[in-house]
Order: sequence, then structure tokens, then C-alpha cells
Amino acid sequence: MAVPQASWTILATLRWTADYFRTKGVSEARASAEILLAHTLGVSRLDLYLRYDQPLNPEELARFKALMVRRREGEPVAYLTGHREFWSLDIRVTPAVLIPRPETETLVAAALEAAESVGAGLKLAPALEQHPKTQNLKPKTSPLWGVEVGVGSGAVVIALAKELDRMAWVGLDRSGAALAVARDNARRHGVAHRVHFLQADLLAGLKPFAAFALLVANLPYVPRAEWERLPREIKTFEPPGALLGGEDGLDLIRPLIRQAQQYVKGGGWVLLEVGDQQAPQVAALVEETGAYDRIETIKDFSGMERVVRARRLDGTG
Ligand code: GLN
Repeated sequence: MAVPQASWTILATLRWTADYFRTKGVSEARASAEILLAHTLGVSRLDLYLRYDQPLNPEELARFKALMVRRREGEPVAYLTGHREFWSLDIRVTPAVLIPRPETETLVAAALEAAESVGAGLKLAPALEQHPKTQNLKPKTSPLWGVEVGVGSGAVVIALAKELDRMAWVGLDRSGAALAVARDNARRHGVAHRVHFLQADLLAGLKPFAAFALLVANLPYVPRAEWERLPREIKTFEPPGALLGGEDGLDLIRPLIRQAQQYVKGGGWVLLEVGDQQAPQVAALVEETGAYDRIETIKDFSGMERVVRARRLDGTG
């Protein structure tokens, strides 16, 4: 088949590219072609079809071809465009961060539900800008605080900050490069004043004040053997540090469960995203601490147990 030429129309280029991607085994061939062409032309996907007979000029074609080649090699569309939608928010992504997954919206939804019981929707708006720096966080003078451990792009904590406009958040990540992306996303979405990002290994570095009403985490949880079997698109391009959880996948979740009870206040909630088949084991680890009640697992849209949620008991640990 002939390679796309300048003067080819949008529709002809789309058709050719989708076929080409299919023969090369690129996943989501048609969608990839549409998103990359729309990105190249600076228009929406719908616009492509409204302007289907518009020809590409040589400069547009050259830029599109460069993206097409990278996509053919398996590079994720989100890294090529620098954007991914999550919770209806446009999230900027770079190869320093995991691309937000649709199933992680389950974690956001489960956290919002939990937030209702801690009164996140009821408190009067505090003068957040006057609040002490997070390092001096004092439970009595603080508003309702939440913490996300392992923010990556910031998608989860930003979605929560947008939904719960009376809460302030601490966002932790061990990767400085990820934190830069998360801070940028928080600024773009107008929540930078309510999310304090800090570089830390899990909760280390934060004093155990038992101050948080919500603790959420989507830590790396892919077991080593499973990682080997992941599509090249993920394995070659996404940061292993955001995915790999050691032999059984729980190398980070286990220590977080040990630490969490000292950081979450009575009546507050811990919410952990987990991988396939991990929910019962993670729920058992939470149970063993003796610090929680209402331990439940929550399914994602595909019916997989995706989130383990538990309520911190008063006055233990
Ligand atoms: N759900 C992701 C995947 O399947 C894994 C995310 C994670 O480890 N937290 O690639």
C-alpha cells in the first residue's frame, strides 16, 4: 500500500494508518490513528470527521509520520500526546509517570463515598491558604486532611481535591520526576493550594499524627512473573518503579499497611488499589492489624476486586 502523501485527505490518512497499525499488531489501531492525527492537527477527534476531506500539508504530514513510527514501535498514545483523560480531567503525562488507568476511577469513587462519612462535604470552608505547612501539621488546627501515597501523575489526588473542595491533601511520591508532573497537573486544575506534594518513601518523613481522614494509595502491585508477561507497550515504556511490587506484588502494600494506622484518625478510611486476586490477601493484612472495622473489597467496572477499604477504629494502635 502507498505511504500517505501530503495532499492526502484526513480520511484517507486515517484509513491507511489504522490498517497499517493493524498489520503491525498495534493495539487500538483506529483510536490510535485518530488521537495522533487530531493531536497533530490541534483539533478534536470529532473534528477529524467534520473535516474529513481536508488535505494534510507537508509539515503536518511530517509531524504525523514521526508519531506514527513511534506508535508502531509500541509507544503508548498518552506519552506521544502528553495527555490522558482521568475522571473527566485532562491529565498531563510523561514517561516518568504511570498512565492513569480507567479502573483507578474505582479508587476515586470509593474514596468519595468514604469521604461522606467523615463529613468532608459538610465542614465550613477553612481559610486554607493560612494553614500551617504540612510539616507542622497539627490535628486540632487543621482542616480535614487526606493523603495519597504514590501520586504518580497526581490524577487521583487531583480528582479528589476537585471533588472535595473543603479538604486539603498531602501527596507523596518517591520519584522527584513524578512529583514535578503531579505539581504541574495540580496547578493546571487549580488545586495546587490544597495539595502539598512531598518526596517520601511511603509515609516516611511525615510525623505519625493520626491526622488524616482519608489515606488512598495506588502503589505498584504487579508481581514479578506477571510483569514479564505484560504487553511490550507497558513493559518497555511505563516506569517499572510505578508497577513492580516484587515477588507477590505486595512489597510496598505490606509496609504501607503497617504504617497507615498511625496516620489515620479514628473514623477515617484507608483505601488501597490492588491487582488481580490480591484483594483477599490485602484485606487479611489489614484485618491482622486489629486497627480497623468495616473492611470491604470494591469491584471495578469489569467485576474485579480492585479496592480494599477499611475504617480506622477509635483509640487503638
Ligand atoms: N493496573 C496497572 C496495570 O495493569 C498496574 C498499576 C499498579 O501497579 N498500581 O498495568
